[in-house]
Amino acid sequence: MNWVLLKTAPHMAMLQLERDFLESMGIEVRVKNEFLSGAAGDVSPFDAWPELWISSSDQERAKTLLVMPDTSSESWTCHCGEQNEANFEHCWRCSAIRE
Ligand SMILES: [Zn+2]
Repeated sequence: MNWVLLKTAPHMAMLQLERDFLESMGIEVRVKNEFLSGAAGDVSPFDAWPELWISSSDQERAKTLLVMPDTSSESWTCHCGEQNEANFEHCWRCSAIRE
């Protein structure tokens, strides 16, 4: 089985939810460096970051499952001061393109 790195984060806590979620969806998850984080020594902090690994055959599915809610789903404020809903790419008032 080929394993691919799905994600890494400074703390296991940041990966735990996704790990639990993927496992609940039947995707096998491996964690590297789970207990290394914070270890002293000559390991650079970055090298010791926990990593989530999954089978390459699960990669597409995992990515689909982990698609985060679009952060653009919040209203935005145009430079003219108008508040626009997230699904508008142009300001309804002055037609400026969303930035
Ligand atoms: Zn505007």
